[in-house]
Amino acid sequence: MAGGPDHERGVSPKRVVIVLEYTGSVKDYIAASQDHGSVFSVPEQCPHPDCRAAGCLIRWGTYTRTAITGEADYRLPIQRVRCKACGRTHSLLPD
Ligand SMILES: [Zn+2]
Repeated sequence: MAGGPDHERGVSPKRVVIVLEYTGSVKDYIAASQDHGSVFSVPEQCPHPDCRAAGCLIRWGTYTRTAITGEADYRLPIQRVRCKACGRTHSLLPD
């Protein structure tokens, strides 16, 4: 979970993944998800370079992603958001 793609470039027009900075560990992320339902708030602006609509993102369910850290596998709940302006869905991934 280090590095992360440059999401500003938007290489894939169909599936934009938003990588947000998260300073905690995988365990912290899971604990925070369970405490608050979602670690990250919905972004202000659509991340798609052709859209960039503000205030159009709504929560669009979650899915589970497996992270392998070396010592164990973790199931990470990933928040998805949908843009009402362009209809695309985006995933909010921890970095
Ligand atoms: Zn959009």
